[in-house]
Amino acid sequence: MSVMLDKLAAQESRRRAPGDAELAEHAARLSAQYFDGRARPTTVRWVTNQNTRWGSCTPAEGSIRLSHRLKGMPEYVIDYVLLHELAHLLVPGHGPDFWRLLEAYPRTERARGYLEGVVAAERLPHLTDAREE
Ligand SMILES: [Zn+2]
Repeated sequence: MSVMLDKLAAQESRRRAPGDAELAEHAARLSAQYFDGRARPTTVRWVTNQNTRWGSCTPAEGSIRLSHRLKGMPEYVIDYVLLHELAHLLVPGHGPDFWRLLEAYPRTERARGYLEGVVAAERLPHLTDAREE
């Protein structure tokens, strides 16, 4: 666990994460590109109180929150989580309609694999030890 967190912390300092204003810009761009601009969030921001979910949204308010744990991850991963929450403004739940929306984003599978890898690495610290440089 600590090895993984140290690595994430190191990545975080190397790779500058977008600020809240940039997140909102990304959201607008992604919505325009993949959803014909139909998803219109009112607020998009980072939160630090969300450790079990990468992102969440409140469709009634149009607010989207991303976990600070995503900071330092590749942009395509952050964009995927953003797009995922944008899609929830249009379709609640994870039914076929929801995933059809996300199919338009070419890196959905890759981003999901990346996030699953992070979760797996945190649950199995011996694996991260084996990879330690
Ligand atoms: Zn979801």
